[in-house]
Amino acid sequence: MFRIWIPSGKLTLAVFYIICEVKNMSYYEASEDNIPTKKDSRGFTVYYPVCHICGASLMCWSYTRNTQYTCKDCRELLIERAEDKKASLLAEKQKRCLERAVDRISRITKIEKYHSSIKWVENHLGKTGWFQSTEEVMVTLELIRKNVKAHHQVKIYNYSVDFILPDYKVVLEIDGKLYHGKDKKEYETVRDKAICEKLGDGWQVIRIDTDCINMKITRLVPAIESVLKRRKAITGMEERAIKVS
Ligand SMILES: [Zn+2]
Repeated sequence: MFRIWIPSGKLTLAVFYIICEVKNMSYYEASEDNIPTKKDSRGFTVYYPVCHICGASLMCWSYTRNTQYTCKDCRELLIERAEDKKASLLAEKQKRCLERAVDRISRITKIEKYHSSIKWVENHLGKTGWFQSTEEVMVTLELIRKNVKAHHQVKIYNYSVDFILPDYKVVLEIDGKLYHGKDKKEYETVRDKAICEKLGDGWQVIRIDTDCINMKITRLVPAIESVLKRRKAITGMEERAIKVS
């Protein structure tokens, strides 16, 4: 069997030589490129290349040719710009969801009824985590139109729930067709139980199929109410049954 064995003392020496080589390389390249250098109090070389954006001189412990050096201020500015770009891309994506939502609702009912709901969504475009699909926007528009108080994308433990309707004690989840099957069912049971336990007594999760949203969005609130009414009736029967026995 082939083995490489380096005694620890020699390894330390090897690392030391590599560092020295890199340092030497830094030094030669820096002097060739006219990069100002200084020795610090312990005799180490300090390099002062310039920021590739603003030209300010910045302090480094090594120098590598053809590297873009960026000062702290310019780096923060770059990060800020990248975040702005990300937010505007997100808002664009959400805007397209809103346009599709308006288009789908227009085919079902008079869109004029949704005027203030649409305005509200427009004012909230760009919010991280919100309006991830056209159906989510449709549900948002419908809940606002029907004056149903709701919280969108709420974190409960590690789960993110689509909508919480506090007055109904309902967690509303939009169910896509993408992940169906036994595993999903089991996962959902565990998830729903944990969520309802966290929210307290009387809470329940209602899942609405994306097809239902796309075809019968105006039936959303009555459907939730009928689920709750049915559940109340069943609970009442159970209570009576307990009393009778
Ligand atoms: Zn700079």
